[in-house]
Amino acid sequence: MPHDHSDHPHALLPSDPALRVKALETILTRKGLIEPAALDEIIDTYQNKIGPQNGARVVAKAWSDPAFKAALLADADPVLADLGYYGRQGEHMVVVENTPAQHNMVVCTLCSCYPWPLLGIPPGWYKSDAYRARAVREPRRVLADFGVTLPADTAVRVWDSTAEVRYLVLPMRPDDSEGFDEDALAALVSRDSMIGTALASPPQSSSEASV
Ligand code: FE
Repeated sequence: MPHDHSDHPHALLPSDPALRVKALETILTRKGLIEPAALDEIIDTYQNKIGPQNGARVVAKAWSDPAFKAALLADADPVLADLGYYGRQGEHMVVVENTPAQHNMVVCTLCSCYPWPLLGIPPGWYKSDAYRARAVREPRRVLADFGVTLPADTAVRVWDSTAEVRYLVLPMRPDDSEGFDEDALAALVSRDSMIGTALASPPQSSSEASV
């Protein structure tokens, strides 16, 4: 039987998870355990201020500046802290570079560890059981599901995030992007390309391949 929300008796109520969140927020506020204004500030930060655009800026800078890239790959934390990208869920970052010889892909097999300061809130699929199990077992099939087919001689390396280490993939710079400034380069970098489930977009298709 189809589930039609338009004439559903509960259509005016928020969805079940939203209701549960609201109920929790109400209880915690009444008990004085949280400050609603602070909560709004945190949500605004992660919805509007922190997101994949931060990671894309880092990638664009690495593509443009060899010294920056070398420092980033050698020890990412101080380099990222200089740019203001640090904080919760980004305490120890490791940047792994895609090359013709090796493609990198990031997963958290235990839960959903993810570099929030650089990529924002993780997408639903990143937290799914299927991705977490299959990324390690059959990474090439997972990549194919994302529409990525790599040359047979490109090795795929899967990095398992933990509470201590978070990874960011530095995708390969697309051909035909010579002369692009950092803003133009950043527009080629999707969230998924920094998780390793996509490649950076070629310049001509960048308008369709937005985050
Ligand atoms: Fe995790």
